[in-house]
Order: sequence, then C-alpha cells, then structure tokens
Amino acid sequence: MLTDIRHETRETLLARLPGEPAYRVDQVLGWVWQRRAASWDEMTNVPRALRETLASQLSIGRLEVARVQGAQDTTRKFLWRLPDGAMVESVLIPANPALYGDAADRHTLCVSTQVGCAYGCRFCASGLDGWKRNLAPWEIAGQVLAVERWAATHDVDPAPPAANSIAPGAPLPPGRAAATPGSRRLVNNLVIMGMGEPMANYGNLMVALRALNAPWGGGIGARKITISTSGVVPGIRRLASEPEQFQLAISLHGATDEVRGRIMPVNRKHPLQELVAACAEYVARRGRMITLEYILIEGVNDDVAQAEPLVAIARQLRAKVNLIPYNTVEGLEWKRPSPEACRRFADAVQAGGITATLRMEKGHDIDAACGQLRLRTERDLAAATTGA
Ligand code: SAH
Ligand code: SF4
Repeated sequence: MLTDIRHETRETLLARLPGEPAYRVDQVLGWVWQRRAASWDEMTNVPRALRETLASQLSIGRLEVARVQGAQDTTRKFLWRLPDGAMVESVLIPANPALYGDAADRHTLCVSTQVGCAYGCRFCASGLDGWKRNLAPWEIAGQVLAVERWAATHDVDPAPPAANSIAPGAPLPPGRAAATPGSRRLVNNLVIMGMGEPMANYGNLMVALRALNAPWGGGIGARKITISTSGVVPGIRRLASEPEQFQLAISLHGATDEVRGRIMPVNRKHPLQELVAACAEYVARRGRMITLEYILIEGVNDDVAQAEPLVAIARQLRAKVNLIPYNTVEGLEWKRPSPEACRRFADAVQAGGITATLRMEKGHDIDAACGQLRLRTERDLAAATTGA
C-alpha cells in the first residue's frame, strides 16, 4: 500500500523528489494543506510528470461524508466513512471564547483518533461497541481538511471569509504557492476529543498534529490544539517531553477513586494519585495550565460534597475546570442533573477559588457527545440490513 502524502513532512517529500526545486514541493504541500486537494488531478499548476511521479509513490486518501447534522451558525456534526467502511465523527463548533479558544478563533473542530474505544468509560457512546482500530495520521489530519473542503461549498461561515482562504480548485493567488504560516483557516482551534483515546494512538496522533501545526502544513498553532485523555499516565508523561506546546485536558469526571472508579475503568490502572502526580509533573515541566473536564451525571458525581475533592485537585494543579452536563446516550441509564443542580455544583467549585465554566452543551440535540452519531447510524444500518 502506498503512503499517504499527509504522512510526509517537507523534508521527506524533498528527499523523495531529488532534483525537484523546493518551490515545487511547497506548491504540492500548498495544494494538500491549504487547498485541501483530494486528488493529484486538482494540482493543475504542478507539471503532469511530477504528478505522475507523486501518484506512483503516494496516495491521497479520502474521507467520505456519510452524514452531516446541524444548522448554520450552530454546532455541526460530521460522520465520515473511511476507506475500509469504518465510521468516525468530527464536530465543528463555532467560536466560543469561553471554551478552549479565544476571541480570535473562528471554529473549533473536535476530531477522532480511533474507531471505537477500548477504555469503556461507562457513560460514553464511543466505547459501547469496543475498539476497532487506530486511525492513520491522514485520517486524523484529514478530518480538518475534509470539513474545510465541505465548508467551502456549503454556507457554514456567516463571517466574511478570511483574506487568505481559498476554495478548493480556485486559482492560487500569486505568492501563495507555499503554505502561509499562521493562516486563518476555517478551523483554527482543534480539540482531540472525538471518538477514541488519543494517548492509545500516540504515534499516529503526533504525526498528524505535527503536520497540522507545521508552517508548510496546516499552520494551526500548537497552543490551539488541545489533547484530551481519560487519564493514560504514560501518554501524559510522553506529551510533557514533546517540543511542541500542545495543550492538555484531563477527563476527570470523578474526584475520588471511589466515584471515578465506578465510571472509568482506566482508574484501576492509573488511580487518581498517579494521575494527579503525572499532571503535576506536566504542569511543572511545561508551565502550561491544564483543563480538568468534569461531566455532571445525576446521582453519580454531582453531589456538592464532591466539589471539595475536585477543588483540592484543581488547586494542586492550578487547573481550570470545565463542567459539562451529561449528554444522555440511548441505551445508557445515566442522566443529566437539573440546571439548578449543575449551577449549585459550579458555584461550589468557584467558591473554592477555582476558575470553572459550566458548559451547557450546544449540540445536545444533534448527538454531539462523542460517539453518539456513529452509534446511531450503525444501529440504523444494522436495523436496515436485518430488517428490524
Ligand atoms: N478519550 C478521550 C478523548 C475523547 S472523549 C477522553 O476521554 O478524554 C471527549 C470527552 O467527552 C471526554 O471528556 C468524555 O468523557 C466526554 N464524554 C463522553 N461521553 C459523554 C456524554 N455522553 N456526555 C458528555 N460528555 C461525554
Ligand atoms: Fe474512550 Fe474517552 Fe469515551 Fe472513555 S470517554 S470511552 S476514553 S472516548
């Protein structure tokens, strides 16, 4: 099988094409990362002979849109069909400075890293049918490119297009042969919070994120990329030693081993003490603030008494806390607490001197929590094929 072009760096591509001038390589990279080309034929200003050489050595895999849910100006959910028929999701979220981004952000994209998930958190739709496989780097990075490609022909962005955004297939303006560092893409903020456990597909994720971050690639700032983990300690330690300033979020969801252990099997392997120690090391080493994610689930972790151990952990790590009312999942018993109960919990955390946001999910109505759209679609398909 050929390697996907999005697995190449500028250096490896230069090495593959001896005798080609660097500007040609930059032109190809511009087609891939800025103009999201989905075939060699689209690269009209690249000489045919070079396109043929590229095609003989490299592939350009495609993510096919299986479903899109949501309306203009709100959260939109994409379900992708991968070449082997497996399905994963991405969620496009309009700028919301209160979340992970800042005022200059246009859209945040939530991307998946695996088909299914082996971690089996009791409340999560992604793990319900187990783990199928890791995504290749191009399948991770390709979610950004495919969403932008889709958006270029659908009216998703009510704001005027960024000065340097280029529709696929449109002529390339002079001086735009190479990728533009720091370009304002439609997607300029990434959260690795879709389906799968990022730390369990660490190598492929890093290849994808480095390309999305590179000046010759996606040009998305490392600080605009947040990796969320359920608490896979070796991954946190590894991330702490990377040169890039990727951001870290922890899916905590329980502030004692008793509560966390009930809903997250990973807590048996890496109990809170070990997790918090790894996070502390990360913070000390990077000098970056981390985010603690805490889904509020009725009767499980929403008792205000739980705010106390949560505050203690957040204080020790100097972390901020994102409180997220649980999104109900078909077939699971867990419930979202009342808005008042959510507010009470948020107030208790804030009273402890912690910066906490209470995020009322925008995408509740479109199965925006990870794994839900895929689950529903796969069940629909199964029902259709069995005639149920
Ligand atoms: N596996 C990684 C990243 C993907 S999950 C992790 O667990 O961090 C992204 C986030 O969505 C996690 O914080 C997860 O706990 C949360 N989540 C899963 N199911 C949810 C649901 N039904 N409602 C709200 N959040 C959910
Ligand atoms: Fe996997 Fe994250 Fe879902 Fe847990 S919350 S099952 S780690 S995707």
